Amino acid sequence: MAHALIASPFLDGHLLLKPGARAGARISADHYEGLRQATTDGESLPAWAVQTAADMWGLNLGGRPAQGAVLVREPSPYGYCRASWEINLGCNFGCKHCYLGERPFSGLGWEDKVRLLDIMREAGVLWLQITGGEPTMDPHFQGAYWYAWQAGMMLTISTNGSLLWRPDLLKLFRDCPPYRLVVSMYGASEESFDTLTQ
Ligand code: SF4
Repeated sequence: MAHALIASPFLDGHLLLKPGARAGARISADHYEGLRQATTDGESLPAWAVQTAADMWGLNLGGRPAQGAVLVREPSPYGYCRASWEINLGCNFGCKHCYLGERPFSGLGWEDKVRLLDIMREAGVLWLQITGGEPTMDPHFQGAYWYAWQAGMMLTISTNGSLLWRPDLLKLFRDCPPYRLVVSMYGASEESFDTLTQ
């Protein structure tokens, strides 16, 4: 089952987050450690966490085991918290202002993508932006998105929006909600849009 919450170190403190939600809660180091312990010891979610989830996001997690309900991110000696990843430089638009030049349709192979995401997780990355090119065109986009989401990252996808009609993409975003979808708007009219994106 997908986790409902993420508990994570963040800078000099700790956060409790809900995937897909903008708002998060600062929690004490003791509460973070308590959640960590509860997940490893097979205990229920502590009452304060149940209450916070209800107050903050309207979730009912009462009686749920901590393991499964909350994904606890391990502390990292590197202490990174944000990263941005150009997963593939290819794009189906040809914007006149694009800084990517020829936009070669290329990115890492699947095994290197997994390795990169593992490195980012171990480095402490909590917020990850996946961009391109057009990221949703990458052949491994959905697998990489899911892998990062399961690793407890809050994902921002920067997209030109051209593939957001696809049912498989919409299902992915519904099942594993992103922190943000940032959609570029390239024209106020069909004509200005086509002129700019070519
Ligand atoms: S949508 Fe973005 S990546 Fe694609 S051509 Fe336009 S500016 Fe470049």
